[in-house]
Amino acid sequence: MATEQAAITRATFDEVILPIYAPAEFIPVKGKGSRVWDQQGNEYVDFAGGIAVTALGHCHPALVDALKSQGETLWHTSNVFTNEPALKLGRKLVASTFAERVVFMNSGTEANETAFKLARYYASTRHSPYKSKIIAFNNAFHGRSFFTVSVGGQAKYSDGFGPKPADIIHVPFNDLHAVKAVMDSHTCAVVVEPIQGEGGVLAATPEFLKGLRELCDEHQALLVFDEVQSGMGRTGSLFAYQHYGVTPDILTSAKALGGGFPVSVVLTTEEIASAFHVGSHGSTYGGNPLACAVAGAAFDIINTPEVLGGVNARRERFVKHLQNIDTECDVFSDVRGMGLLIGAELKPQYKGRARDFLHAAAHEGVMVLNAGPDVMRFAPSLVVEDADIDEGMARFAAAVKKIVG
Ligand SMILES: *Cc1c(COP(=O)(O)O)cnc(C)c1O
Repeated sequence: MATEQAAITRATFDEVILPIYAPAEFIPVKGKGSRVWDQQGNEYVDFAGGIAVTALGHCHPALVDALKSQGETLWHTSNVFTNEPALKLGRKLVASTFAERVVFMNSGTEANETAFKLARYYASTRHSPYKSKIIAFNNAFHGRSFFTVSVGGQAKYSDGFGPKPADIIHVPFNDLHAVKAVMDSHTCAVVVEPIQGEGGVLAATPEFLKGLRELCDEHQALLVFDEVQSGMGRTGSLFAYQHYGVTPDILTSAKALGGGFPVSVVLTTEEIASAFHVGSHGSTYGGNPLACAVAGAAFDIINTPEVLGGVNARRERFVKHLQNIDTECDVFSDVRGMGLLIGAELKPQYKGRARDFLHAAAHEGVMVLNAGPDVMRFAPSLVVEDADIDEGMARFAAAVKKIVG
């Protein structure tokens, strides 16, 4: 009884949750658009977007409607039976991208796990069982299952869990010569984020992605784009590959896809998809009707000229604010990224302190992200209002001034 009645506070986290996160001191309880309120009724401007997830803000009426009406109709079938929301969403993705086949999963990790397994399976069944080498990049992030975290480029996340999946090699991002040096006939796939998100908001150069495409073609390897963070309108194109004009063989997306409902997708061609057969891979929840109904509603809004076309004007507004803060406080060495995935690297004297800026910002009433210890990251709603940008950046400026003194 006592436990049930005790108030839920931040201290409860330390009592009941594994110590793998260090969440902020306040607990959000409500959101609307780009504003969030905590248990005490304090209001925040949200530029974190649940890590590039709530692309249409909180509780968008169209998403709430989709969730409610599907919630009163059919929640779950498993993949023993297919369902209409998944098939509708699949059609939309096929109609709007290079994809001829898609498969739904529940998280970025699972989409990548699926993609990497598909790439390995395709190479081993169509070419040779020895064609298993995966080339990936330093500082890349692809998820937290043991395979995906091993393809990711930060050993500190994959160390300590026993023997790692073999035949994965990491080279520097944006360095085509480094890729050339390790590319060979045993390579099954090159896996790359068109914009490294967690790794510091670093965009690939167009020459790099074009070069990877050519190398993959030359060595019969698959080019896999991880657009878990950069996809679904984040860059102002539906997917970043469309902005670059470089088409991958397999693409994964998640985060913004469900606007806050967990869902992910793998896109590929018919020819590659056909390497898999019934039983090759699967998921109980993948393509769940609730998730796909919400994602379908989000897709219809994001994939419009109004939303995609508004991304870069909003970016400019953010960048102008960041430049003004830098003029006043001399704090950023670089402002980068694409569309509404914005990185601001801290000057050497503030290196390692991104989390301090994040906490100071929350204290001033604005939620922001970091990307590693040295880079501030902004991944707001794609439809964030100008007034919210101005108010949130005024609060961020106040936080920066507190730290810089
Ligand atoms: C967030 C992210 C992932 C992992 O997604 P989860 O939904 O957390 O499993 C994978 N790749 C990239 C590029 C990401 O940003």
